[in-house]
Amino acid sequence: MSWRDLPVGGIILEAGNSVKRKTGDWRVFKPIIDQDKCTRCLLCWMYCPDGVIIIRDGEYRTSSGRVWRFSLEIDYDYCKGCGICVEECPIEAISFIEEVK
Ligand code: SF4
Ligand code: SF4
Repeated sequence: MSWRDLPVGGIILEAGNSVKRKTGDWRVFKPIIDQDKCTRCLLCWMYCPDGVIIIRDGEYRTSSGRVWRFSLEIDYDYCKGCGICVEECPIEAISFIEEVK
C-alpha cells in the first residue's frame, strides 16, 4: 500500500456527523444547574460553546413558590465540562463538581 491508497483526511464527508461523537466522555468536572436558584437569564445558554444547554418547556415551581415556564438542562452526552457556563452565571447557580464515572 502506498500513501496514495490512504483515505483523504480532514474532510467532512457527512454533514452533522458530530452528533455521533458523544464528547461528554471528555468531562472531568460536571456543571449542575440549581433550578431553584436559576433566574432564567440565559447567559449560560448563550455562552456554552457547544450549545448543549437546552431550554426545556414546562412549568417549574421553586421552593419559594415562583413559577417558571421553562427550565435549562444540560445535555451531558455532549457537555465537555469546560466550565464557561459556571464562570458566566451571574448568581452562581451552577455548581461544578468532580465527574464520577
Ligand atoms: S461546561 Fe462547557 S460545555 Fe458544558 S454546559 Fe457548561 S459551557 Fe457548555
Ligand atoms: S446563567 Fe445562571 S441564572 Fe442564568 S440561566 Fe444560566 S444557570 Fe440560570
